[in-house]
Amino acid sequence: MKVLVINAGSSSLKYQLIDMETEKVLAKGGCERIGIRGSLLVAKGNGEERVYKEAMPNHKIAIELVLDALRDDGIGVIKSMDEIGAVGHRVVASGEYFKKATLVTPEVLKTLEKTFELAPLHNPAAATGLKACMEVMPSTPMVLVFDTSFHATMPEKAYLYGIDYNDYKEYSVRKYGAHGTSHKFVASEAAKYLGKKPEELKIVTCHLGNGSSISAVDCGKCVDTSMGFTPLAGVLMGTRSGDIDASAVEFLARKKGYSYSEMIEYLNKKCGVAGISGVSSDFRDLEKGMKRGNERCVLALDMFAYQTKKFVGAYAAAMGGLDCIVFTAGIGENTPYVREEVCKGLEFLGVKFNGRANKAKNDGTIHEISKGNSKVKVLVIPTNEELVIARETAALV
Ligand code: AMP
Repeated sequence: MKVLVINAGSSSLKYQLIDMETEKVLAKGGCERIGIRGSLLVAKGNGEERVYKEAMPNHKIAIELVLDALRDDGIGVIKSMDEIGAVGHRVVASGEYFKKATLVTPEVLKTLEKTFELAPLHNPAAATGLKACMEVMPSTPMVLVFDTSFHATMPEKAYLYGIDYNDYKEYSVRKYGAHGTSHKFVASEAAKYLGKKPEELKIVTCHLGNGSSISAVDCGKCVDTSMGFTPLAGVLMGTRSGDIDASAVEFLARKKGYSYSEMIEYLNKKCGVAGISGVSSDFRDLEKGMKRGNERCVLALDMFAYQTKKFVGAYAAAMGGLDCIVFTAGIGENTPYVREEVCKGLEFLGVKFNGRANKAKNDGTIHEISKGNSKVKVLVIPTNEELVIARETAALV
């Protein structure tokens, strides 16, 4: 079966067509500036890339263009739309409405709308992409795959906040986590790489990208994660503050004269390593700054590594042991300085870090950055969220 994976944003739409027999990506690409002047589709297939500069007033037109590109004489990889067995849609937040990947029905569509207030930037966009696909491909099964599903196994003691329990019940305010498909993928890849069953391992997965989250994966199941009710929680990130005392938020809002929503905007967009360094949210820029001796770039990098390290230690304690630490995503896969700073000082847990292997160039494959005799294995594993979405979609269909 071939599965089309769709990741729809409010003005963008990324896709991959995956052959499930081989798990190979047959074609991929993305539409940008949907609904805005100057929209374009960059499509890859058959080893070629083509840029279509076409008007895309809405997501339906964007999907139609993607399907045209998939059937194109040159870069096309299918002859007919019927070759697409199912479409898997990435959805950021499920709330407590969905615990796992779900086949779309009219009922499911209605329930999806209830999740909008949990991820107002992302979930309505996913629904728009979904509806566009349903219009253009009415007889193809559609599946929702949630970033939060992998975290559904967290116990109550891990996902609850210390608020009035009745308020949790009434408003479902709790930790949901994020990047679940990535944590799930790298944890299972780590088990495969180590030649063990997931049930035999206690793993801390560090998804470190523009958004970052750390998860405790015990026996293949997520038991805790650093992101919270929304992706603002946990370690500081590119532009997000991460965890902060709620009273400091109120204090700052008063000082700066911000409303609730202005304060949330500030904490999401103006903080994190960008706010600390005053230079950039991009770790490549921070590393350049560090080389030039910029102390605030060093501070931002060190804060990020320190906070990540604290989650590794906390989760080792929560699981009662640790067999493996995994680094993934943009920073996790590409920033040796951060990996080394996270692992430095973790010898007491059984980590023997291999500095030389850590500095090896990222070639897109799994590599081990702990020494051969390290009790805790440290691995760098390229993430592949699209493949997880495709697998879950195919399994359901
Ligand atoms: P992600 O959200 O996973 O795409 O990660 C994005 C972040 O990863 C960027 O903002 C950079 O800070 C970092 N990053 C991505 N690629 C590299 C690279 N080749 N070298 C260093 N950092 C990178």
